[in-house]
Parts: sequence; C-alpha cells; structure tokens
Amino acid sequence: MIPGGQLMFTTEVENYPGFPEGVTGMQMMADFREQAVRFETRVITEDVTEVDFSVRPFLLTTSGGTEIESDTVIIATGANAKWIGLDNEERLAQSGGGVSACAVCDGALPHFRNQVIAIVGGGDTAMEDALYMAKFAKEVVVVHRRDTLRASNIMRDRAFAEEKIRFEWNQNVVDVLGDDVITAVRLKDTVTGEERELEVGGLFVAIGHDPNTGFLGGQVALKDNGFVETATSWRTATSIPGVFAAGDVMDDFYKQAVTAAGTGCMAALEAERWLAEGGHGDSGAQADSAQAESESA
Ligand SMILES: Cc1cc2nc3c(=O)[nH]c(=O)nc-3n(C[C@H](O)[C@H](O)[C@H](O)COP(=O)(O)OP(=O)(O)OC[C@H]3O[C@@H](n4cnc5c(N)ncnc54)[C@H](O)[C@@H]3O)c2cc1C
Repeated sequence: MIPGGQLMFTTEVENYPGFPEGVTGMQMMADFREQAVRFETRVITEDVTEVDFSVRPFLLTTSGGTEIESDTVIIATGANAKWIGLDNEERLAQSGGGVSACAVCDGALPHFRNQVIAIVGGGDTAMEDALYMAKFAKEVVVVHRRDTLRASNIMRDRAFAEEKIRFEWNQNVVDVLGDDVITAVRLKDTVTGEERELEVGGLFVAIGHDPNTGFLGGQVALKDNGFVETATSWRTATSIPGVFAAGDVMDDFYKQAVTAAGTGCMAALEAERWLAEGGHGDSGAQADSAQAESESA
C-alpha cells in the first residue's frame, strides 16, 4: 500500500478547510504526518497483514514480520476507488490530465467547465456525479456497460430529467486518449463489438470503492457492502471492544478527506476513553465529558 493514502493520487485538494488557495494532496499528507510526529507518533511504514483481536493486548503482524502489541486499535485503512484499469487512465489521473475517480473532489476545477464530460458507471454514485457535473459541464455523457441502471429510481429519474445528461448504453471505455490532457475516450459496444471515439474534456470513473479490510480476517463485523460496521451511528466503536474504525474504511457515504479526519478525531477520543476506563491512564475526553455532565446536572 502507498503511505499517505488516496490523496497521493490527486493533484489539488480544493475543499479542505484552512487552505484558501488549495493544496496538493502530497503536501497535505506530508504536513499531516509531520504534525502527528510532533506529538510523538511513531510511524512504521509497513502493511499490517494479520491481526489477532482474540488476545489482550491485541496483536498485529506486519509485512516485515514485526509484531505489535496494542491495548487499542483504530482501523483507518481507507478504501480504494475502483478504476477501469487502463494504462492511459492511470497516467492522466496521476498527472492531473482531466481523469479522476471523485467528481465532488475535482469536478469544480476550471478545466472541466463547459466541457463534454464522461462519467463511467450505472449506480447511484455515477448518477450523483453526473448531476453534480451538469452544473459545470456543457454536456455530461454517462457511459454504462449495460442497458439498464443499477441506480435507485429516484437518482435515475433525476438524471433522466436533467437536460445536459445523456446516456451511452452498452458501452465499455477501452482506452483514454490525450497526451497531457484527455481529449477523447474509445468506446466499445458490448453487443456489437463496434469501437468508436467520443470527444471529451474530462472523465470521472464512478464504479465504486473497495474498502481495505482483507487483513482483518473476518474478525470485525462488516456491512453487506464490505465497509467496517460501527455498533451505533455517530460512534466509531466496532464489534470488538477496544477496536475502532475511522475514515473511508467505515464510511460508504461521504468519502471525503475532511470527514475522514473528523471520524479520525472521534475514534481517537473514543480510544482514549477506552484506555482510561481500562485503567491505562487519564482521559481528557472523559474528564471533559464528566465536567459537561456535572454542569448540565
Ligand atoms: C482521485 C481522488 C481524488 C480525491 N480528491 C479529494 C479531494 O479533493 N478532497 C477530499 O476531501 N477528498 C478527496 N478524495 C477522497 C479522499 O482521498 C478520502 O476520503 C480520504 O483520503 C480518506 O482518508 P482515509 O485515511 O480514511 O483513507 P486513505 O486515504 O485510503 O488512507 C488509508 C491508508 O491506510 C493504508 N493501509 C491500507 N491497508 C493497510 C494495511 N493493511 N496496513 C497498513 N496500512 C494500510 C493505505 O496505504 C493508506 O495510506 C479523493 C479521492 C480520490 C481517489
């Protein structure tokens, strides 16, 4: 896995508070790391390949064979946006050439304005991305490999009602064209096999996310869609007492840097409280909440 996470794959982050001019994903991740290290975080750059949550303290094993014992664990392993898997798609996504897997993140950038934009996918995310891009684009073309959508009726109806959105049914994107910036996608008809080019100024891939949970070996409850389940809403505790989850690995809805940071904060406060309750130290969070309770009483 790549240290720094998904934002290492994006050029500008424009929607994180505190950066009025925007910031590159790489710079933001370097700053996050530096700030954590300033508070004595010890960073081990290895993948966790196995966990044992049946023992106390919990035991984690890494790809380098290191064994880590821990009284509490926060799972924050993110999710990987699914890509089509084309070389030119990856090249132009990494160079900021108009290819992205997140319309809400990148869609408002000036170079997508008044362009023909292709959205790949047929689910709710694809419809949401199409509707979002219709605000900025000249035309939005939803490219879907089937002749019906997986999206919910309400999202489908909203997309059908938007004049700027049209659909290319039974089409796969088999290549992305353009040197520095995308100029077209090559489509292949899934029924006839016929290939043709569609000129576009942007491509958004909206075919889902894979949460990184394989290393958990089924020890933590997951939702039907594979994201880590939290026992109650607005909390980060998982099915294992002492194990918490934050960020995209538990969030199948918002999937933004600011929400990942927010749930990270929530998980840290819950973990701190968990440690204090287990006799592992004082908890500022617990003290604050006790104070709030006595004030309200
Ligand atoms: C192309 C793109 C552009 C985006 N642009 C924006 C944007 O502009 N603004 C915005 O708010 N959001 C944006 N997002 C979404 C944003 O990147 C995510 O919401 C955010 O990064 C989630 O943070 P996270 O820490 O939960 O997960 P991630 O960023 O996925 O980080 C998870 C980390 O865990 C590590 N990891 C995974 N498995 C293991 C393991 N077994 N052992 C050890 N480490 C592991 C990974 O290597 C990674 O470093 C974008 C996403 C994409 C794909």
